[in-house]
Amino acid sequence: MEAVVEYFSDMPKAHRSLILFGGLFFFLMVESGLPFFKNKYNKVSHTGLNVFFTLTTVLVNLGMAGILLFAASWTTNNGFGIVQWAGLMDVTNAPKLIAGIIIGVLLMDFLGSWLPHFVEHKITFLWQFHVVHHSDMNVDASTANRHHPGESVLRFLFTTAAVFIVGAPFWLVMIYQSMSAIMSQFSHSNMAFHGKLDKVMRYVFCTPAMHRVHHHYRQPYSDTNYGNIFSLWDRIFGTYVEVDNSKLVYGVDTYMNEKDINNPLFLLKIPFAGYKPTPKHEDAEQL
Ligand SMILES: [Zn+2]
Repeated sequence: MEAVVEYFSDMPKAHRSLILFGGLFFFLMVESGLPFFKNKYNKVSHTGLNVFFTLTTVLVNLGMAGILLFAASWTTNNGFGIVQWAGLMDVTNAPKLIAGIIIGVLLMDFLGSWLPHFVEHKITFLWQFHVVHHSDMNVDASTANRHHPGESVLRFLFTTAAVFIVGAPFWLVMIYQSMSAIMSQFSHSNMAFHGKLDKVMRYVFCTPAMHRVHHHYRQPYSDTNYGNIFSLWDRIFGTYVEVDNSKLVYGVDTYMNEKDINNPLFLLKIPFAGYKPTPKHEDAEQL
């Protein structure tokens, strides 16, 4: 266990990039070989646009990394936060440390991912940033990091608050962020991952078949399955649904013009262009 803590305490930058871009390459390959939806779209330009937004997210996180590092060392030095108060960060006590890692990552997933995501769907001002993520009409592994830089700042602030509340040391933040990056690419990927394997895995983790529903173009389905790493939070808060994926239509009903949603400048300007209300749909959809 000590080796794990040591590795993540001083995780090489190259390894972090490898997780982000190596993971993206891996899931893009798998979904190309084993696709769920067989829609034809230009995967190169689609990936290019989403990588642009991945890079803006990386820039935001790099620019603010010092704050996160400060938060994590402050909680450790002051014994502040849930896993610290519970005495679970004792590196010499493996069972306690394993419990601490599981509880810590679970709580970081809730406070740093599920909660900001849920809030983004409920507060109009924040939705105007998050809608960039939902505007993708061909969800695949590259969609995972299609976030407006404004949303990246918001998520960073929630993650920093989570570090204080959880009492996460820096190495635990690194474990959480590594898992989060991989799981987000996995759950957005267009791979044919269903049946028994999906059924068993979603007891604990968010799967592609689960998260796809969240990217349906209209409510109420887009307001379900908010999870990132664990399915637990949607189950607890009553936002978990199981839907036949074959009927899903990706995108968001307010922005269905393909030219617009593939234009990075248009996407960057959405939050400042004024709120676009959800169109009224004649039928109450039942998938
Ligand atoms: Zn969302």
